[in-house]
Amino acid sequence: MVEDIIIDVVGSFADGKTTLVRALANESTLRHSEERKRGITIRLGYAHFLIYKCTKCSSFSRYEKCEACGAKGTLYYRVSIIDSPGHKTLMTIMLAGAPLVSGAVLVVAANQKCPQPQTEEHLEAIKIIGVKNLVVAQTKVDLVGAERARQNYQEIKDFLSKNGFSDTKIIPVFSINDVNIKELVQEIGKFNVNKEKDNKKPEMLVVRSFDVNKPGAEISKLSGGVLGGGLKEGEIAVGDKVTIYPGIFIKNAWKPIKTEVLQIQSEFGPEQKIGPGLTVGIKTKLDPSLSRRDSLAGSLVASNDAPPNFRNKISVTYSPLIDKEKNVFKKPLQKNEMVLLNVLAAKVLGTVSSIANEKVGITLNNSYLPYYTGDKAIISRKVENVWVLAGSGTIYD
Ligand code: ZN
Repeated sequence: MVEDIIIDVVGSFADGKTTLVRALANESTLRHSEERKRGITIRLGYAHFLIYKCTKCSSFSRYEKCEACGAKGTLYYRVSIIDSPGHKTLMTIMLAGAPLVSGAVLVVAANQKCPQPQTEEHLEAIKIIGVKNLVVAQTKVDLVGAERARQNYQEIKDFLSKNGFSDTKIIPVFSINDVNIKELVQEIGKFNVNKEKDNKKPEMLVVRSFDVNKPGAEISKLSGGVLGGGLKEGEIAVGDKVTIYPGIFIKNAWKPIKTEVLQIQSEFGPEQKIGPGLTVGIKTKLDPSLSRRDSLAGSLVASNDAPPNFRNKISVTYSPLIDKEKNVFKKPLQKNEMVLLNVLAAKVLGTVSSIANEKVGITLNNSYLPYYTGDKAIISRKVENVWVLAGSGTIYD
């Protein structure tokens, strides 16, 4: 059965991330840019490709014809690579899309000592968002001698072991000549995705939102608001009646918005029904002015039949990051301390209102959070006026 999977490709531009993504996605990226020109655009997905599993030798390949033995393969994964532009915003985007991501490719260049501060930060984020499926692509091996390549390999190996990824494969690649890309695809094919689709309430995370109409379009020809994001759980189909949380702020209160799904577009084309693992654009009956310029980014779309909790106070079982040498959090969370929360795609400020062992109560500052019991909260604390990832927890009430 074909599964859908979203992966992150992290690493700075200087590390060859863009070239690697091009090598992975090859012609399908071009098809994607054609798709962008018509109809609803997605702008969340970055690139995508297919993985086939060989019916004879079981190896994974980007093509139907097995790259190892030449036999025919069957479609195994539809892979979407989530967009993570410029490194400054990377953390925010990674965290907003975090519950959607099942695996990551960490790109490390051989011509620099590993880890670079950014590489460290990216691996930290991968750990926080709980991604277990990881592979390292070692790039720029052609720019250094064999000796330095081996030395760098060892640096990466030590860095991974120190962070609990001692089994992670490191694959030297030459993206431009397509060398070893198929080995990288082998590893992505082995990513283990456990998705329980049965009886789960749909939770769609809105990472972007758009008004796709041209300025001055006639009212009768206006197209409804488009939500870009993906499903964390459950399924959504064309025709479904859904509610967007927190909705709009009127008369000093948040009012969730009810709407209907008119059309769904994934990286791979139009879809009738979607589950987790795809980046999608969903066209709704919504007044397009409400979705203009990412104004609904951070929202949760839920089924009308299964409303989430919707509160201004949450209770979390909190565990701090256990951070080696450079632990900046000398003291535990304090009562009345202000914290930054990432819950699903939302980012809100809160104040610690109670602490008892690992159980922490947080009151939100002027906002309401939609969530289901068991959802994850990522917590940042302020260190010298900068928000720093401090830990994560599960919302139990
Ligand atoms: Zn084969």
